[in-house]
Amino acid sequence: MLERYEKFLKSFDEKLALYFERDKDKIKCQKGCTFCCENADYPLSLLEMKYLMQGFLRLDKDWHDRVRENIKKLKSRKKTSSYPCPFLLDGECAVYARRPLTCRVHGLAYMRSDGIVKLPECARTGKNYSSNFDGQSIDFEPVKEDLNLDKIFASAPELDFGEIRSMINWFL
Ligand code: SF4
Repeated sequence: MLERYEKFLKSFDEKLALYFERDKDKIKCQKGCTFCCENADYPLSLLEMKYLMQGFLRLDKDWHDRVRENIKKLKSRKKTSSYPCPFLLDGECAVYARRPLTCRVHGLAYMRSDGIVKLPECARTGKNYSSNFDGQSIDFEPVKEDLNLDKIFASAPELDFGEIRSMINWFL
């Protein structure tokens, strides 16, 4: 199943790269910006979690221990709806190649199938699309594909994604 998922990821990433390229003049993602890795709940499926954990198990001992320490700290927190991702180390994703789908999509604005435009959270903090969004309306055409997780999962019926949980809940 993980091999099939990897194959799916390859074409999914290629498609996303085209979307990011199309909107590159509105996107301010850059090395060192960790906004989307520090303030979210990172929902991911069992399949994504298995894939991510394979990457985690291959980390050097130092990084492996640091992620484990982050997870330990997270588990002791009471508030779990928005928290720093335990895989964020020194401002970088320790499992970048194996990051969840929600992380791959983050930063893009897209049109949901119900007609609502989904902007990244950082649009309200002077980052992506902030020059094209006045707090109420936008002045550009968003990607015309619903990139919500449920829609992504539905686009790959050959894969069994399994249960979805907030990342922290996979460690409890
Ligand atoms: S898995 Fe990586 S990209 Fe996703 S939130 Fe965590 S550090 Fe960021």
